[in-house]
Amino acid sequence: MSTIGDHIAAIRATLPEGVALVAVSKFHPVEALREAYDAGQRIFGESRAQELTAKAPQLPDDIEWHFIGHLQTNKVRQILPHVTLIHSIDSERLLRAVDAEATKTGRKVGVLLQVHVAREETKFGFTPDELMELADSGMLATLQGVEVRGVMGMASNTDDETRIAEDFAAISRVFERLRDGAMAANPRFDIVSTGMSHDYPLAVANGSTMVRVGTSIFGEREY
Ligand SMILES: *Cc1c(COP(=O)(O)O)cnc(C)c1O
Repeated sequence: MSTIGDHIAAIRATLPEGVALVAVSKFHPVEALREAYDAGQRIFGESRAQELTAKAPQLPDDIEWHFIGHLQTNKVRQILPHVTLIHSIDSERLLRAVDAEATKTGRKVGVLLQVHVAREETKFGFTPDELMELADSGMLATLQGVEVRGVMGMASNTDDETRIAEDFAAISRVFERLRDGAMAANPRFDIVSTGMSHDYPLAVANGSTMVRVGTSIFGEREY
């Protein structure tokens, strides 16, 4: 088996049943993705519209492409035919744009609402309060073209594992409040997308159901 295949197998062995693995393949060539595919990987995450639309046609059709990066509204149309799940819905404006575009094409796309709990000012997403407000407004129930599947988030960029664990737990709490509240009628509201190469075990210990792992599968990215 390839090195990439070994990495995937090693990560999978640590993930409990029910936690999905997104192989974050941004900046890696299609040959690397193919190795992962041959090792059984079917979910890939990309963060740039152009890269996603260039790669998807070169790889098998049964891949599930997830968009995980900051998405500009003017790129929505471009990525929509390729993706099954957009992790990075970070504003009501973007949510409406995705909904409108998907409705036009007559399909439903899965989305996750990005929660901002990390200390950094620069991270995108809704604060927990903003998200609760959005849910309480009833707006989510009016969406025709998107299916809200859960939440996504990142922990603070720190070595402090207590802090990281707290961030993941805070994201999971937001998920639970929505699941038991505004989204209670939607059994498919079931995804907590947290955890990357350096912190996914902490994420899994704190409620993650979907980890997004790049470097630990494919190696360092060359930007
Ligand atoms: C790049 C990226 C990842 C993967 O990061 P690694 O540290 O390489 O595992 C996960 N999530 C998001 C949103 C990313 O942009």
